[in-house]
Amino acid sequence: MYSINSMATLYFHIPFCRRICTYCDFYKVGAVELMPAVVRGMHEELDMRHTYLKDRHLTSIYFGGGTPSLLHPHDIESLIEHARRLYDCSAVEEITLEANPDDLTEEYVEALAATSVNRLSLGIQSFDDEILRFMNRRHNAHEAIAAVERLRRAGYDNISIDIIFGIGGFDDNSLKQTIQRAVELNVEHISAYHLTIEEGTRLGLMTRRGEYRPISEEQSEADYAFVEESLMAAGYEHYEVSNYAREGYRAKHNSAYWTGVEYLGIGPGAHSFSGDDRRWCTSTARDYADKKILFESESLTPRDHLNEYVMTSLRRAEGIDLDFITQRYGLAEAQRIEASAEMWLKLGTLSRHDNRLSLPTSKFLLSDAVIESLFA
Ligand code: SF4
Repeated sequence: MYSINSMATLYFHIPFCRRICTYCDFYKVGAVELMPAVVRGMHEELDMRHTYLKDRHLTSIYFGGGTPSLLHPHDIESLIEHARRLYDCSAVEEITLEANPDDLTEEYVEALAATSVNRLSLGIQSFDDEILRFMNRRHNAHEAIAAVERLRRAGYDNISIDIIFGIGGFDDNSLKQTIQRAVELNVEHISAYHLTIEEGTRLGLMTRRGEYRPISEEQSEADYAFVEESLMAAGYEHYEVSNYAREGYRAKHNSAYWTGVEYLGIGPGAHSFSGDDRRWCTSTARDYADKKILFESESLTPRDHLNEYVMTSLRRAEGIDLDFITQRYGLAEAQRIEASAEMWLKLGTLSRHDNRLSLPTSKFLLSDAVIESLFA
């Protein structure tokens, strides 16, 4: 087992989507014809930047997007192989591919099973076809179920699915059905996100025009509570605001990210973190394909690190470790946090066990207000 200081993770950003979902504000493009040139660029970027993570052992590799399942499994494996030539990958336990259910044909899954990818994260979002159409997703509920079954037959035993709740304009049964189907599929991991309305998305426009009415705060809380209670009753651990896992199946890649492990992000729009700085690729997919790979970066101060620790810790079941704060940032900081936490402890929004402060999982929805009040 390596110490946290010698670990790192690798992320590949595949910014292509065949269709744009109503709510999405991630960096993505529809020009899939650029994909081969972008993949060639990613190999070059890997070589060019491999010293960004100095003497680190990789513990996980993640293909995120966009839609990484638009990549042929050969291309996925060639990027993994390339990483193996540059880094010590003997500690890599998890290689995740985000996938859209309708990309996972028999042929695709068969080819994928021959690669080193050992975890799939499926963007299912809902098992209600009407909601899927509203979201402009490419798949329907039947295809999503068939994709999970196909992966099982191919031997995949670590599957995560994404679900979105908090959607206005649909009846209560819709969320019930979606959660019930998710539980019946018996996947190892579920990410459940509340729908957010972002400026610049189709949903943002629909909201401004009055074509979409967001749900009330009470309904948000009720949906959140329903999702949490149902998944916990089905045996899932609620270990992070939006994440539920069967025992032993917490997402290793994301968990590393939340605990401050360094990472290298490759591809247009990808972010990297070296402990001292954070940098992100500002090239468009077209520029990237033309080998114009540009970055912006920011240096992190001890205060930034502390605030980041407070934020990521309070979004996880483990919460803040006051001993760690004392060790890393000094007793005065730990005391400041304790003093600011007093009010939340009285309200029952925070709880304290020994030297740990955490939000009960049922209060995770309130995490933003608590986090802000504990910032340095
Ligand atoms: S597939 Fe994913 S990245 Fe692409 S538009 Fe939909 S939500 Fe966004």
